[in-house]
Formats: sequence, structure tokens, C-alpha cells
Amino acid sequence: MWGVEDSLNELATLARTAGAQVMGTLIQRLPHPDPLTYVGKGKAQELRDQVQQLNCSLAIFDHELSPNQQRALEKLLNVRVVDRTALILDIFAQHARTREGRLQVELAQLEYRLPRLAGREVEYTRQGGGSRGAGAGSAGGAIGVRGPGETRLEIDRRRIRSRIAELKDEIEEVRSQRALHRQQRIAQAIPVVAVVGYTNAGKSTLFNALTEAGVLAENKLFATLDPITRHIVLPGNQEALITDTVGFIQKLPTRLIAAFRATLEEVIEADLLLQVVDISHENAIEQSETVNEVLEELDAHDKPEVTALNKIDLLDDPAGIDISLYPNAVPVSALRQEGLDALLQKLAEVLASSMDHVQVVI
Ligand code: GDP
Repeated sequence: MWGVEDSLNELATLARTAGAQVMGTLIQRLPHPDPLTYVGKGKAQELRDQVQQLNCSLAIFDHELSPNQQRALEKLLNVRVVDRTALILDIFAQHARTREGRLQVELAQLEYRLPRLAGREVEYTRQGGGSRGAGAGSAGGAIGVRGPGETRLEIDRRRIRSRIAELKDEIEEVRSQRALHRQQRIAQAIPVVAVVGYTNAGKSTLFNALTEAGVLAENKLFATLDPITRHIVLPGNQEALITDTVGFIQKLPTRLIAAFRATLEEVIEADLLLQVVDISHENAIEQSETVNEVLEELDAHDKPEVTALNKIDLLDDPAGIDISLYPNAVPVSALRQEGLDALLQKLAEVLASSMDHVQVVI
């Protein structure tokens, strides 16, 4: 079971990933969240004292705050307040490498921001014909520029909505191009391996180590692939495309899953999943279960799978790990480049046996 502490530890890891220095954590247990301050006024004051003492510039809450709660807390604490969703969006923004990924992140950020503009109306001065009592002279300079009675807030909202619509169109376009690449791949029957795993498990490190260990020279045909997909050759001369994916997180807000479905499309389309597990982590099993749950949601849990039990260099007794708990598991250290040959070998084996059962429809 994931407790409050686990969740907060994960939040701290995420905060560090986003570049923050974690000064301290505070837990509040309430039967119901306080509608105004989420943690309750007394706790908020305690938090304010800590924030001042430790000279913090940011407070991160492990739960989605309503726009009102966020504002009330910022006022009380006198520092910027963000919630888990905003933090995850920030990390995604730092990690989005493909065009589609970046579009998806911007879309999710704007959708998150839109309702949060509300209520700030007081901060904006009414513009244009809004000041109905004023004489024509005072508003004359803005004729033809501003809409009648439109506030700054309305203008911002309208801009965001039109950008959201634009982004959705662009995403559709990128998707159809991607579908084209996929058709090319299917036609050539080059299997796709998607690297999945919990955030911080070592996916990127392993992805880089593996592609260095087994890369094929730049292939013109795939020059248009997005930068997170590479063409490799496995033992037995089996070619494959290997693709990195965004990290899975235990409390990934559902609407972010929807926004990132396209980023996870590689997973849905993959022939084989390479799940990276940080075997040195005390919650390795739970983290892997979380990944499996998301895979299930994506309807991708029935795919052949290989597990890289990563970070064995951190274990006192690497020989003592129970590899039978995970499908086709190979212990590795991506950092020290250990176990990679065995992993490539396993990928080739599982791929070869699964491809026997796959009918390629062209
Ligand atoms: P990702 O979030 O899954 O892509 O994880 P990263 O590849 O960014 O790795 C997360 C952290 O774990 C980084 O600090 C890596 O240096 C570290 N790491 C990755 N693989 C290993 C490993 O085999 N051993 C150790 N000790 N650290 C590792």
C-alpha cells in the first residue's frame, strides 16, 4: 500500500527532478480537505512559519488544489504555491522532446491554466467601452482596438481558447504524419520496442546505454523519426526500433493521462515493452504495478515484455534478487553499463518468439 509518506517522498523526487531543492515536508491529516485552504487555517499558519524559517520560495502541495485554494494559500504563505499537477506538467515540459510531446504539454498547461484565470478579475482593470459612465473622450484612444466591455481576463481567456484550438489541430496533423511513419515501419516489419517505467527508474540512461551498445549507423529511411526513436540491431541480426517514453507516476492525474495518450502512443503500437524497474528502490514492486496499471488502461498489458532490473550496482547482494517476480527479467546497471549484452540477447529472444505469432498485415 502506498502511504502518505510514500506519496510525499515521490513528490520530493519529482520536485528535485524539476530542479527544486527540498527544504522540508509537512503532513496534515484531515477527514475532509478544507474548502478554502486545503490544509486548514492552523496548519497553513504552521506552514507559513516553516516557509519563513527555511527561507523557501515555493510550496508544493501533493494534491490538486482548486484555483481558490491556490490563491488563498499564496496569500497566506506569501510564496508561490503549486500543486502536484502543475509540478508534473513542469517536468513534462522539461522532458518533452518530440514536437507532439511539446504540443501536448502546452495544451495540458493551458487547459490547467484556463480555470485558474477566473477570480483574478479584480486584478484587471476594465478596458474599452466597459466604463459605461465615462465620456466618449476618455475611451476614444482605443476605438477599434478593444472589444466592447471586454475585460483583460476575457481577452486572456479568448486567446488561450484559440491557442487550445490551434494546438489540437496541430496535434492532429502531427498524429497523421506519425501514422504514416508507422505504416512505413509495418510495411518493413521492423518491430518496435517501447521503453516504459516509473519515473527515475533509469529509462533514459538505459535507452542511451542500449542504443550505444547496439546502434546501427544513421539510416536515411528513419531520418524523419522523432529523436526518441532509434534504429538498433539485436543479436542474431534482428533489427528493431527502440523508443523512449515519458515516465509513469503513481498519482498521475487522470486528465494528464488523457493529454499524454499520444505521447504514449508508441506504447500502444509497440511489439514489445521493455519495462525498466529500479530494483534498488524499496517500492520497486509497487512502482512496477503502477506501470502495469497504466499499461492496462492503455490496453497494452498483453504485449510481450522484458524487464530490466536496473541499478543493481546499488544493491549489497545483487545475486539475491528474485527475478521470477518480473517477466523475462535481466538484472542490469544502466549507469555502469553492466548486463546490457544479456538484456539485448533477451530482447532478441522474446522478440523472435513473439514475432512468430504476429501476423503482419500490409
Ligand atoms: P528516467 O526518469 O527513468 O528516465 O531515469 P533517468 O535515466 O533520468 O535516471 C534517473 C536517475 O537514476 C539518474 O540520476 C541516473 O543517473 C540514475 N541511474 C540510472 N541508472 C542507474 C544505475 O544503473 N545505477 C545507479 N546507481 N543510478 C542509475
